[in-house]
Amino acid sequence: MKGHIARKRFGQNFLVSPGVVAKIVDAILPQADDSVVEIGPGLGALTEPLLARLEHLHVVEIDRDLIARLRERFPPERLTIHEGDALQFDFSVLGPGLRVVGNLPYNISTPLLFHLAASADGVRDMHFMLQREVVDRMVAPPGGSEYGRLSVMLQYRFEMERLFLVPPGAFNPAPKVESAVVRLVPRPRQVLAAVDENLLEEVVKAAFSQRRKMLRNTLRERVSETDWAELGIDPTRRAEELAVGDYLRVANRLAERGTTASL
Ligand code: SAM
Repeated sequence: MKGHIARKRFGQNFLVSPGVVAKIVDAILPQADDSVVEIGPGLGALTEPLLARLEHLHVVEIDRDLIARLRERFPPERLTIHEGDALQFDFSVLGPGLRVVGNLPYNISTPLLFHLAASADGVRDMHFMLQREVVDRMVAPPGGSEYGRLSVMLQYRFEMERLFLVPPGAFNPAPKVESAVVRLVPRPRQVLAAVDENLLEEVVKAAFSQRRKMLRNTLRERVSETDWAELGIDPTRRAEELAVGDYLRVANRLAERGTTASL
């Protein structure tokens, strides 16, 4: 890797398969004047082919050694480097219509997805490489063990599609697990029906905090027997049995009665 020693704490697994890189860039289909930000450019495996098609690219990178290399390789008028932690980065400063891409550091993928969901209003789409297991949880339908808080909150906010799988051998160092590329497209604000999104988040979190228990018990403090009856939801069901729309109805009922989120 041209002298760079991969740092485990930054989740560094660099893409080394030209075929996989080409497949990801084709899935993104960048147009010259698109506004794009890449999270974790690393050694530039995606950065370079993206810049071959784009006039300009933003990147957010935490590793100073990698930032120094990127500075040497790409001129500042083509590549704007935001040095720091993507978990703290305010993506809304990059303006509307933003396209977010990245082979994400797997150790922070879940908090990063929640962080991005919170600033999804200005985002056009996102394409990410993630652990396959995480992608499967993101797109999981209700009823199975993969369906959880991540599935409900992301499916509420985005249309999502698992595009293709990527084997460990496409990376150096090779991760232990299979990866997958996923596309997320934010649903328009007008169709998002939660009266209070923090309340939705709280209900979903509480329900899945003990996923084997009946909703009657996990949501006891918030949802009364009358609420369940009027919502037409059987309170003996478990968290994984409720569809995204059911969680929305529960949260909206609480909001209508004047409950506020404690977040
Ligand atoms: N895009 C490159 C590729 O595909 O070969 C590198 C991908 S590597 C899986 C993840 C990258 O994210 C690394 O460059 C790493 O330094 C960077 N990174 C890790 N944690 C980060 C954070 N909190 N904020 C921004 N970048 C981070």
